[in-house]
Amino acid sequence: MPTKPRPDAASKKSSVETILRSLERVAFVPDLTRIATYEDGVDDDDGIALGEDDATRSKLGGAPYLSATVAHPLCGRCKEPLQLTVQLLRRDLPEPWQASVASDLLQAFWCRECHGNNDDAFSKGTLVREVSMDEPCTTRIVPGDEDTWSIVSFIRGWQPHPDFPGALEDELRFMKVGAAIRNAILESPPDGEVLDGVKLSTWRRWTSAPAVFKCKCRLPMSWWLHLGELGPTIGDGHTLGVLSCTCGLKALQAD
Ligand SMILES: [Zn+2]
Ligand SMILES: [Zn+2]
Repeated sequence: MPTKPRPDAASKKSSVETILRSLERVAFVPDLTRIATYEDGVDDDDGIALGEDDATRSKLGGAPYLSATVAHPLCGRCKEPLQLTVQLLRRDLPEPWQASVASDLLQAFWCRECHGNNDDAFSKGTLVREVSMDEPCTTRIVPGDEDTWSIVSFIRGWQPHPDFPGALEDELRFMKVGAAIRNAILESPPDGEVLDGVKLSTWRRWTSAPAVFKCKCRLPMSWWLHLGELGPTIGDGHTLGVLSCTCGLKALQAD
């Protein structure tokens, strides 16, 4: 009786390489400069006064860019001022990512008290918006909130890195890769560390349910920016990220 031929070592190796190549994408990791003092809250490099003239920079945390016509956003649930998690000037983004931002500046806010849950990237406790920077910045420090504006990480540039899915085994199962090839890949995973901090990346970091977040337009959203565990800037260990849809909408997801 004929038996099913077993793949030989060479073809198994070539399958592994083909799959790994198909999984490799380019992520961009920021060069961060963290400033965490308020009384002498001046950036040594640039002499930036936190909460005042840092508002026009690409950064994590701190005071948002606001003009006279752009209000500080309030939480849709508790009506308290939302906290800035990240703002990115389009011109500071790596070239391949600039096309996915339509205005000068992308800002993502959240409410520490009522931020989004796993199942709701469009929670009223979060806001992602794009604003023009045509008008002068007139940022107002929200009274009583000075502390949260005193920890800022400036983004000085972006470095490209090879990137793979955060949960490789789940991804291989999702792709229906057979057990033999899957085990071979997991025994010798791709070179390079898993990028677990802040990164611009379209690979999802987590595959915990729901793995696919739907946009308001019903299309699946893809990961755009992973913020990782930004305890220093947002107050606790939640993992956050910005999702993007081909329709142009973005949302802040807390996991
Ligand atoms: Zn709230
Ligand atoms: Zn959409």
